[in-house]
Amino acid sequence: MKSRLDIKKIQKDFPQLDVLVNNKRLVYLDNAATTLKPNIVIETLTHYYQHQVANVHRGVHSLSEEGTRRFEETRQTIQNFIHAKFSHEIIYTKGTTDSLNLLASSFGEAFITKGDEIILSQMEHHSNIVPWQILCEKKGAILKVIPVDDQGNLKLDEFKKLLNTKTKMVSIVHTSNTLGTVNPVKEIIQLAHAVGAKVCLDAAQSIAHQTIDVIELDCDFLVFSAHKIYGPNGLGILYGKEELLNAMPPYQGGGAMISEVTFEKTTYNILPNKFEAGTPVIAEVIAFKAALDYVSQIGLEEIALYEHELLEYATSEIKKLKGIRIIGEAKEKSGVLSFVIEGIHPHDLGTLLDKQGIAIRTGHHCTQPLMKRFGIKAAARASFTFYNDKRDVDALITGIEKAREFLL
Ligand code: PMP
Repeated sequence: MKSRLDIKKIQKDFPQLDVLVNNKRLVYLDNAATTLKPNIVIETLTHYYQHQVANVHRGVHSLSEEGTRRFEETRQTIQNFIHAKFSHEIIYTKGTTDSLNLLASSFGEAFITKGDEIILSQMEHHSNIVPWQILCEKKGAILKVIPVDDQGNLKLDEFKKLLNTKTKMVSIVHTSNTLGTVNPVKEIIQLAHAVGAKVCLDAAQSIAHQTIDVIELDCDFLVFSAHKIYGPNGLGILYGKEELLNAMPPYQGGGAMISEVTFEKTTYNILPNKFEAGTPVIAEVIAFKAALDYVSQIGLEEIALYEHELLEYATSEIKKLKGIRIIGEAKEKSGVLSFVIEGIHPHDLGTLLDKQGIAIRTGHHCTQPLMKRFGIKAAARASFTFYNDKRDVDALITGIEKAREFLL
């Protein structure tokens, strides 16, 4: 099936695409790091700061009440977007990293004891490694790691061998930010549940590129960042099943998360407030609804279809270049293309592409263990989304050729 998206029309919604970088048209291929923002998100943010500033939850005045209504409306939009059962299962955090720290700390406090096992994979982002490591050190728990094969697939047979009744948590990336691999999460969840373990999906890279249904997947927790799906910075989501979130202790203390405070004892608020201490990022939450509505209007299925076509085109074009090694060639891939070029350091490539207005990412992509697995220190990464087009891919290819002429 061919995608039917009107890309020219979509591109007009993203003002930053008109910005010149080093006097060249911006070719933005760093979408896995963060996405550009559509006008509607920028306008909603501005409107809040120009007309609607008020704190939420605490006021009886009109602006505070209206702010609270819109703040909670976003929660329902997120609930619908990931198909959760209740809106109070949606917790606002600062980002994926914050969500994972909250989870490791609070879930760890409630459910992890000495000798318990936590399974991660070799392709995790540092933010899905370090919080669990800190927990393991604190509790005397054990970290186990699912290996990755040469194409960039998880070795599921090895995963099955790691699972046992001591496994309490499997925290896995849905789509790898370095390899682009889309992991078979439904199967992983079923296998983990069979031994009584809970599963957290790091959806930082999948949320903008495929439909996610947490009930259908039956995942226990899901985390992502608003800024990777055309929303503002500083906002993340932790989804958790109600009964698990209820059983977990608060992560931070402060205003809004309490029911009653005395110096002798404090009682805590109900979900979701129990996990939302302090004044939140109100404008960002309100504007995030605009981002999700925008994506829903276009349709994630159409988006996925288009991005897949673009990835296939980019992959076949880049393979024509001499000395290219693609890192991550799994069958199920999202719009991420990581590569190294013989004799050229990725940072040099990135710098020369930047001079041509082309933004890619170079480095270890916060996945150092994965880099080690592939025997490299760094890679170049182009990541695509629905406002990119074949012109961007062609610019990248020409840019690489120019860089090669300069460097070799
Ligand atoms: N996990 C994955 C797979 C990611 O790609 C990222 C961001 N690169 C993160 C976690 C962390 O997200 P954030 O920096 O928004 O907290």
